[in-house]
Amino acid sequence: MPSKHQDSRRPFAVGALLAWFQANRREMPWRDQPDPYAVWVSEIMLQQTQVAAVRPYFTRFMQRFPTVQALAQAPIEDVLKRWEGLGYYRRARLLHQAAQQVVEMHGGRLPETAAELGRLPGIGPYTAAAIASICFGEAVPVVDGNVARVFARYRLLRDDFSKLPARQALAKWLQPALDGAAHSGDLNQAMMELGALVCRPRNPDCTACPLAAACSARARGVQADYPARLARRPVPVRPEVAIALRRGGRLLLARRDGTGLLGGLWELPGGGVVPGETAAEAAARLLRDIAGLEAGTLTAQGSITHAFSHFTQLLHLFAADRIRGRVKIRAGGALAWVTAADLDRLPLTTTTRRALDLQRDQPTRRRAQRRGASPRAVAAAKAHRARG
Ligand code: SF4
Repeated sequence: MPSKHQDSRRPFAVGALLAWFQANRREMPWRDQPDPYAVWVSEIMLQQTQVAAVRPYFTRFMQRFPTVQALAQAPIEDVLKRWEGLGYYRRARLLHQAAQQVVEMHGGRLPETAAELGRLPGIGPYTAAAIASICFGEAVPVVDGNVARVFARYRLLRDDFSKLPARQALAKWLQPALDGAAHSGDLNQAMMELGALVCRPRNPDCTACPLAAACSARARGVQADYPARLARRPVPVRPEVAIALRRGGRLLLARRDGTGLLGGLWELPGGGVVPGETAAEAAARLLRDIAGLEAGTLTAQGSITHAFSHFTQLLHLFAADRIRGRVKIRAGGALAWVTAADLDRLPLTTTTRRALDLQRDQPTRRRAQRRGASPRAVAAAKAHRARG
């Protein structure tokens, strides 16, 4: 039985959802901006990243690259610097490439259909549909994780929405709602916002939901069972080492290969620990392989863990002293001696920033350990000092 808001040609209560959205939509710096470039940048940043984390990055990025032309002309290192800490750096490299294509092939204007947008680097079906509907009013459904969760519950679907066929089937079901909408961009944003604010992964607030009257999961009280939970593969731990080597007030850094994970970012020289090798042995080997140097002393400085989507990095940090040999630095090469000012300018990996912080805190840690304070107490004292 359709609810009072439900039109029989539409798959759900579109009017009620739009009314809810108008009353509850969150303010976001990229919303209500007619500029497709701003919407595009925000959609790329929002891939794999929460709204709250994106806000400050978006504002800083738009201040530095206010137009697609400004982004296209910028050096990639500058773009990566503004992305530093946001993660998934491939997004930034592809956004930069796509900006160059937009300027060269489309006269600086973003294409207006999802099909054309999808041909640009870094714009997949979801992002293309979001930009085309929000900026140009194209009636294409956006199926992200939030939308999939809402309708998995609404319709009791057990599909795996990480797979394209499931997303395509849901998009097909949603299409009549988009076809009849005056503002397809608003409807897409309303569905996503409902998933983010009301139909949350845990504890959905069904009493506040505009779709509650016809929701199957709510009717049966099985909201927690949908969407189906997929078996997670265990995430492997990769032991790695990083070496802090200083000479004459400068620090040796290495630039990562431009196409791989964290490509184009700078880091402390290092690499993986191979089976049967200790972290210290790995550090000595890598110092020889990367920089042609023999360290008289390698001092352990502690370790850091950092979670990537498909593995956890366990990074052991060493300080190298009494070095023998001379680092061969080639112009444009992957190694460079950098100053403190360079550290503020270059895009660094998150673990390198954390490793440098760890090393900076060594005297405090040693003093605290001598007093018998726990690592947790040391961290709390540091946070207290940082707050002033
Ligand atoms: S009624 Fe509850 S479970 Fe159903 S769509 Fe709304 S919030 Fe989600």
